[in-house]
Amino acid sequence: MLNFSFKNPTRIHFGEGQIAAISKEIPLDARVLLVYGGGSIKGNGVYQQVSDALTEHTWFEFSGIEPNPTYDTLMKAQEIIKTENIDYLLAVGGGSVVDGAKFIAAAALYEGDDAWDILAKQQAVTKALPIGAILTLPATGSESNGNAVVTRDGNKLPFKSPLLCPLFAVLDPNVTLSLSDRQISNGVVDAFIHTIEQYLTYSVNGKVQDRFSEGLMQTLIEEGPKALLPETKKNLEVRANIMWSATMALNGLIGAGVPQDWSTHMIGHELTGAFGIDHARTLSIVLPAVMKVRKEQKREKLLQYAARVWQITDGEDNARIDQAIRLTEEFFETMQVPTRLSHVDLGSKDIDLLIERLEQHGMTALGENDDITLAISREILSQAL
Ligand code: NAP
Ligand code: FE
Repeated sequence: MLNFSFKNPTRIHFGEGQIAAISKEIPLDARVLLVYGGGSIKGNGVYQQVSDALTEHTWFEFSGIEPNPTYDTLMKAQEIIKTENIDYLLAVGGGSVVDGAKFIAAAALYEGDDAWDILAKQQAVTKALPIGAILTLPATGSESNGNAVVTRDGNKLPFKSPLLCPLFAVLDPNVTLSLSDRQISNGVVDAFIHTIEQYLTYSVNGKVQDRFSEGLMQTLIEEGPKALLPETKKNLEVRANIMWSATMALNGLIGAGVPQDWSTHMIGHELTGAFGIDHARTLSIVLPAVMKVRKEQKREKLLQYAARVWQITDGEDNARIDQAIRLTEEFFETMQVPTRLSHVDLGSKDIDLLIERLEQHGMTALGENDDITLAISREILSQAL
C-alpha cells in the first residue's frame, strides 16, 4: 500500500426524514444561501422540507444551476452573496448543484482577478464559504468530497480543495424516487466508474481498498438494474444501497493509498464539453475502450476484477479479461447507457476535436502512470467508435 493521509470531514445524515437535521447543523446566526438547479426540488417536496427546517434561520435563494454547471451561471450568485452578506451555502440537488456551490464558495472569497483561474491556472483555493449539502441524485460523491467540475465556453475543467468538502450531507433515499430512469442510470454508472478508476490500475497490495471497491461494484451491478425494473424501482432499500455506494465510491476512502487512473473521466469531460453528452454517458463509452487499449498495463488487476467481481475463473487469461470487459459493457447496456461513440452519433471525424481539447487542457499524460499520451487517447477514442 502507498502512504496516505485520510480525512473526510463531511458528517452524513442518512435515511428518510433526515432533511430536518439541517436545522441543527446550520448555525442560527448564519446568513444562508440555498442554491439549487432547475426546480426538481419544488416538484418532489424537498424545497418544502428545507423551508420547514429553516424556519428559524435567515436564508435567501439562488436557482438555475444547470447540469454541467457553467461559470457564467455560477458567477451570477456573487451579487446576492455580496448584497445579503451570505456566509453559508446550502446546496440542494445533484452533483451539478453541489459542484456549482463549491465554485460559488471559492469564488466568493477569491482574491485574484478572475475566479476562473482556479480552474484554468489551477490556482489554489485558500478560503471558501462553508457548504452543507442535501443530495437528491446519487452519483458523483460530490456531497462528501472536495472536487468539482465547471464549464466555461465548452471547456469543462476540474478543481479541488479540502476546503470545499461539505461540512454535512443529507442522504435521504426517498428523495431519489422522483428521478427519471435516465438520471438513475447515469448515477449508477458514474458511481461504478468512480470506483473502477481507483481500482483498475496496478497492484500495491491495497487489499482493504480492493475489497471495498469490489464490494461497491458488485452492489451497483446488483442493485442498479433493480432501480429500473417496474417491480423494484420504488424499493427504498435498493435506492438506499445505490445512494450509499455512490457516496462511498468517491469520498476518498477507497482511493487512499492506491494508484488511480482518471483517464476515462478526463476524456469524458471533453465529450461533454464539446458535444453536451451527459457525464455518465461519456464514461460508459470511454471506459470499455480504456480497458481494451490498456489491457497489458492493467492485466493483473483485470484478472482480479474478472475473478472477484464477475466470478470468471475458467479459461485462459486473455479470454477471462475479454469476458470481464464484455460483461462490463453488458452491465452498461442493462443500465441503458451508450457504450460506443456511434451510439451518440459521433464518428472518427469528431476525434480530432477531442484530442485538440485534451491538449489544450493539459490532459497529455493521463492514467496511473501518467503515460496515456494524446496518441493513446486517440487510440482509446478510435477503439470506442
Ligand atoms: P445533475 O447534473 O446534478 O442533475 C441532472 C438532472 O437531474 C438535473 O436536471 C436535475 O434537475 C435532475 N434531478 C436531480 N435530482 C433530482 C430528483 N431527486 N428528482 C428529479 N430530478 C432530479 O446530475 P449529476 O449526475 O449528479 O451531476 C453531474 C455533474 O457532476 C457533472 O457536471 C459531472 O462532471 C460532475 N461530477 C462531479 C464529481 C465530483 O466529485 N464532484 C464527480 C463526477 C461528476 P434540477 O436541476 O431541476 O434539480
Ligand atoms: Fe463522475
